[in-house]
Amino acid sequence: MLSQVVVVGASAAGLTAAEALRREGFAGELTVIGDEVHPPYDRPPLSKQILRGGWEPDRIVLRTADLLADLKASWLLGTPAAGLDPVGRKVVLADGREIGYDGLVIATGATPRRLPFGHDVAGVHLLRTLDDTLALRDGLRSAGSVAIVGAGFLGAEVAAVAREARLEVTMIDPLPAPMIRQFGAELAGLLAQLHQSRGVNLRCGVGVTALTGDDGRVTGVDLSDGSHVTADLVLVAIGAIPATTWLAGSGLSLGDGVECDQYCVAAPGIVAAGDVASWHHPGIGRRRLEHRMNATEQATIAAKNLLGAQLPFAPVSYFWTDQYDVKLQVYGRSGDDLDFRIVAGTPTEDRFAALYGNGHHVTGALTWNLPRQARLLRTHVANQTPWQEALASIPTGELEVGR
Ligand SMILES: Cc1cc2nc3c(=O)[nH]c(=O)nc-3n(C[C@H](O)[C@H](O)[C@H](O)COP(=O)(O)OP(=O)(O)OC[C@H]3O[C@@H](n4cnc5c(N)ncnc54)[C@H](O)[C@@H]3O)c2cc1C
Repeated sequence: MLSQVVVVGASAAGLTAAEALRREGFAGELTVIGDEVHPPYDRPPLSKQILRGGWEPDRIVLRTADLLADLKASWLLGTPAAGLDPVGRKVVLADGREIGYDGLVIATGATPRRLPFGHDVAGVHLLRTLDDTLALRDGLRSAGSVAIVGAGFLGAEVAAVAREARLEVTMIDPLPAPMIRQFGAELAGLLAQLHQSRGVNLRCGVGVTALTGDDGRVTGVDLSDGSHVTADLVLVAIGAIPATTWLAGSGLSLGDGVECDQYCVAAPGIVAAGDVASWHHPGIGRRRLEHRMNATEQATIAAKNLLGAQLPFAPVSYFWTDQYDVKLQVYGRSGDDLDFRIVAGTPTEDRFAALYGNGHHVTGALTWNLPRQARLLRTHVANQTPWQEALASIPTGELEVGR
């Protein structure tokens, strides 16, 4: 029976784990450690409603102060964890304090990857936290031109918001089209068309070799083809790396994240969840997901397993992104190594649904402005419907195109 649980990371996964522990009957001492000063808040609206200026930060708090108080946890916010001693069962804080535990949840998420140069001048932004977002929002208000390095989901969402604000936007990526790794060439091609039709200057297939500056302020971006993009604000959105620096030397297995088994267990008495966790999905193999819903689902299972359950974590993953007036929703696996087939609607109608498959069965489902159909197609992902069977069944009326 555990008497002292520490959760490191006070965001979606950490909060969910703390709540699940209490719900499952854990009555001992609960401590939540977070390096941000803010109580838990939601990240997806940062690059959408908050950046656009439609919402203020109070809209994205994940729980009211009363609900947080009901958890009867000690909240150590603005207090980074700096080390872990799994033998002595202690978390070491940056200020030198040591917090003992007999159960530990690691939920430290991910931090933005940086370019090896250029981050020391004003006007160069990263985007992960509320503070990053407010700084970027301020910057966009006074910028005329923006260069976005990286055409993944964050870069693409920010490009959309910046174009809606009528800024001059250039989005740069060494790969041939936006989000091609996640979605494959066909869908990425449609995303490229979407951004170009909205006025984004898309520079794909080129890298960034330097950020240029004048008097301590960024002035633009040098590209690998010898060209230069002028910009008075640069967003670097080139992916995120799991936040495991504080675990160096702990003896935990740190590959692409904290390596866990299928029960989200990293070591005796230690589980991990959310963006920081790389776990063994029973059906698919080792995975790490940077998806909002995964943070909640995984933290719930990890907390139960910390209390003694033995539940393998085998979700049908879910991810969405909003760009301009397009909502993309994805269940399961979608990628450039998979078959892709549109099964309802068409891109010209600006709403369609598609399946991904691995030659045998359905691995993923994607909808473009068809939210209701996303849930229907999820069944094929969950059931791993044979590819031909799924293709044959859908046109017979299972899916009707309508929002
Ligand atoms: C701008 C943005 C938009 C997004 N949009 C979408 C979307 O549309 N759809 C979607 O599915 N997903 C989206 N995501 C991803 C989603 O938000 C993440 O998957 C989710 O936040 C992961 O939750 P987490 O708790 O695992 O990690 P995080 O939310 O990263 O939380 C980890 C917390 O731990 C803290 N921490 C890190 N190191 C330490 C330490 N040493 N000590 C103490 N605390 C520490 C961090 O500061 C952070 O507060 C978006 C992410 C971002 C950044």
